[in-house]
Amino acid sequence: MALDPPTMLTLSIALAAAAALYLAIEWRSIREPSLAFWSAGFATIAVGSTLALLRSSGLLLVGIWFANGLLVIAHGCFLLGVARFTNARLSRAWLLIIVIWLALLLLPDEPSWSKIMLLANSLLVALLTLRASFLLRPHGRSLSVGAVQLRYVLLIHGVFYLIKALTAVIPGTLIDLAAFRGEIIQISLVEGVMAIMLIALSMTGTERYRREKRIERLAARDPLTTLYNRRALDVRAPRLLEDVSPARPAALLLIDIDNFKLVNDLYGHTAGDRLLVTLSEMIRSLLPDGALAARLGGDEFVILLSNTSSEHIAALGSALREQFHHSAAQTFATPQAVTLSIGASLFDQPPASLAALIEQGDAALYASKRGGRNSIRLVDRTLASSEAQQ
Ligand code: GH3
Ligand code: MG
Repeated sequence: MALDPPTMLTLSIALAAAAALYLAIEWRSIREPSLAFWSAGFATIAVGSTLALLRSSGLLLVGIWFANGLLVIAHGCFLLGVARFTNARLSRAWLLIIVIWLALLLLPDEPSWSKIMLLANSLLVALLTLRASFLLRPHGRSLSVGAVQLRYVLLIHGVFYLIKALTAVIPGTLIDLAAFRGEIIQISLVEGVMAIMLIALSMTGTERYRREKRIERLAARDPLTTLYNRRALDVRAPRLLEDVSPARPAALLLIDIDNFKLVNDLYGHTAGDRLLVTLSEMIRSLLPDGALAARLGGDEFVILLSNTSSEHIAALGSALREQFHHSAAQTFATPQAVTLSIGASLFDQPPASLAALIEQGDAALYASKRGGRNSIRLVDRTLASSEAQQ
């Protein structure tokens, strides 16, 4: 089959309609507004390409002015989608594009008509596309793979339309929009088909990657405190534990609130929740670099420290206990003090498993509770300590 304009347009219609449908289905399941804008953009391209086919039947206003106008609107939808995706605000000045397009209706019917239409259409599409690509530049945090791909696909597409606009101002270039004659129009139809595929693929990838990251984050975090949960700790702890050696001992601290039930019983579950969040914020603010913290469940938290010492553990434990005691006493009057008990284990050999390590911490925590609460119990399992005891 020859790559004649009607064939290329038919391909564009099919691909744009498929992309619009796919993005609409994605939007239905996750309701991300950017997907709705992108889907609308492709639907507009499908309609515009269908109208463009009418040129051969002599319907020039609909087949050229209207169809090309829809192409501009479609790129406007792409820009709106990217703006939603990146939480950027667009200036109202972009509405001027519609005024410019309406003004083209006043163009006199003379030989330069085709060139001016092509120039205006290409410049407007280039402007919208390059702005969208610019919005996707990294802002401090790194972009996902999908977003980087979309950024470059839009950049190339925008530059192509700039070059297309340039060809319109080069004297002697043949451009006949009514008969699809002129090399740039032929090339543009081929580029259009490729751009639809690449832009649609990048858009779906962009949103999917972000969604997967969100799900991953949700699955790894305790919803109340946003600290890691037990599952996330299981995944992350081995890397930290594998580095343990006599030169770089590590420690586990198991923390449990004393008399936490009193807060729930006297002030309600929501007050109890607030206290759990307060403790998690204290843990986060005192956590050294490279350490891990998680909520194991209920009022039990765990901290894993690498390259540490018994002095460091004692200092961290005291700071936590004092801050927490002070905060809880100021907020909740209770018959028994709401404080922290901590069971810690210092070790310089990689443990058999995280579960075994937590069991050791649990034994130390139990000893701390039995000893009257509001205290830290440290079990030093390093080689240096056993040598010192001999
Ligand atoms: P102890 O001094 O021996 O540690 O006793 P405690 O009163 O602190 O109670 P314990 O640690 O044995 O039990 C924890 C309680 O925390 C049990 C449960 O009612 C409550 N709890 C568990 N999860 C949540 C939660 O997400 N929010 C609130 N508000 N309470 C919780
Ligand atoms: Mg408790």
